[in-house]
Amino acid sequence: MLNLAVILRESAESRPDAPAVMHDGGTITYAELDARSDAVAAALTARGIGPGVAVALQLPNIPAFPTAFYGILKAGGVVVPMNVLLRAPEIAHQLRDSGAKSFITWAGVAAEAAKGAAEAGLPEPYVVDGSIDELTVPVTEPFPLCSREPGDTAAIVYTSGTTGLPKGAELTHFQMYMNADIPGRIFAIEPDDVVLTVLPLFHVYGMSSAMNLGIRFGAALSLVPRFTPEKVLATIERDRATIFDGVPTMFGALLAHAGEHDYDTSSLRVCVSGGDAIPAHLLDAFEERFGVPILEGYGMTETASTITFNPGPDDRRAYSVGKPVWGVQVQVWDAAGRRLPPGREHIGELVTRGYNAMRGYHGQPAATAEAYDRGWLRTGDLGYADEDGFLYIVDRKKELIIRGGYNVYPREVEEVLYRHPGVLEAAVVGVPDERLGQEVKAIIVRRPGHTPSEREIVDYCRDRVAAYKYPRLVEFRDVLPLSSTGKVLKKDLA
Ligand code: ATP
Ligand code: MG
Repeated sequence: MLNLAVILRESAESRPDAPAVMHDGGTITYAELDARSDAVAAALTARGIGPGVAVALQLPNIPAFPTAFYGILKAGGVVVPMNVLLRAPEIAHQLRDSGAKSFITWAGVAAEAAKGAAEAGLPEPYVVDGSIDELTVPVTEPFPLCSREPGDTAAIVYTSGTTGLPKGAELTHFQMYMNADIPGRIFAIEPDDVVLTVLPLFHVYGMSSAMNLGIRFGAALSLVPRFTPEKVLATIERDRATIFDGVPTMFGALLAHAGEHDYDTSSLRVCVSGGDAIPAHLLDAFEERFGVPILEGYGMTETASTITFNPGPDDRRAYSVGKPVWGVQVQVWDAAGRRLPPGREHIGELVTRGYNAMRGYHGQPAATAEAYDRGWLRTGDLGYADEDGFLYIVDRKKELIIRGGYNVYPREVEEVLYRHPGVLEAAVVGVPDERLGQEVKAIIVRRPGHTPSEREIVDYCRDRVAAYKYPRLVEFRDVLPLSSTGKVLKKDLA
């Protein structure tokens, strides 16, 4: 048997008085977190939540999140984490799609949540107002973890919806356990580490790579509910955070902000970037300014986060997403599904298999069948491997631009744009073109104090990339549209 909640129980047994969660200057110890989630498990059990029953959980990064998350698992339930920004119809859709029988939400979005629950025909949600005490039953003994098989579903987690409607990936106890355990060993997380956790916990990156990973190794989670650069920098200083996991847009915002104010971030020993490609110039400038390495990883919801990771500060290859983690395989395939050899000239779709592959998309057998090919999970990402097995992501298959028969990888053009001093943010997309099929378009956020013209941007690129690649169209905007997980929503730009 394996219940993912064992990661909390074991840390509570070995380090009961160590901090598990830090929030707003307060601290919750491992013994307290374990006991509180036991009380949630007891309450849920009393309300009929048992093995395999799905419970939707819609909370920001506050202590009630891990409390409820492990409480649901202890009772044997399946966690369905839900974005706090969803509107009622989206809430109703995810409640129905996941088959949730019960719904825990946050006071800050209670009205919308109630509407969504009613639409889905569910009873009123349980509303958590800061503490989760309303949803607990006092317990005197440790709650016995509900017996689960390693292959049983622990959570149904929705993809980011970057390329289409979010899909609910069924992730198992074993898959999620391993995805906390293996990456944690790779970057040698210690009980004394403090993991700055601002990545939303309802998304797999924050859930696996920050929360479960920290709890598995008895480290402390320093929770920040909403990303602002000030708040994150001030929290790093206050809680003496040692690890920060973020998406590239966060590193960009931190760097831009750090210029103006001084915070003591000397406690940081490592940062992790994932979820999206980090522009090379940003990685270099951030490391230079903060004096701390950014290790890049690559993962997806379907694999409960990590697929590849850069082994460590002393053995990594900049601009690579690293190597497959232990127990995970990656191959590069051509369009016909044949394995490609290493080399920059052999770009193909990355496929993966190992302990980290999902059971499937919940209730979507056709999409599940399409996601797998001869046992390999197709990532939808294009990349290549070097001779030493380090992987490089080139772009998403869906974002590849085909202009007059030539492949243009948006990321390559974005890297060029980012080197222009007047460019703060850049996104390159394909727009329909009668003659060429698609034309290359750059959407630019200008750096404050700079006013490059469209002409200047076009000329800059023309001097640096082949004629079929440079953007003929340029649009300036104040901000780029971001998903709730901080990714640039190119489908909204194209
Ligand atoms: P959807 O599947 O709903 O369209 P999504 O793919 O963005 O959305 P996630 O599961 O959150 O949903 O993200 C996984 C994807 O993020 C990967 O398939 C890849 O395209 C991208 N990604 C993750 N890490 C990296 C990285 N280090 N470099 C480049 N891309 C990355
Ligand atoms: Mg995806």
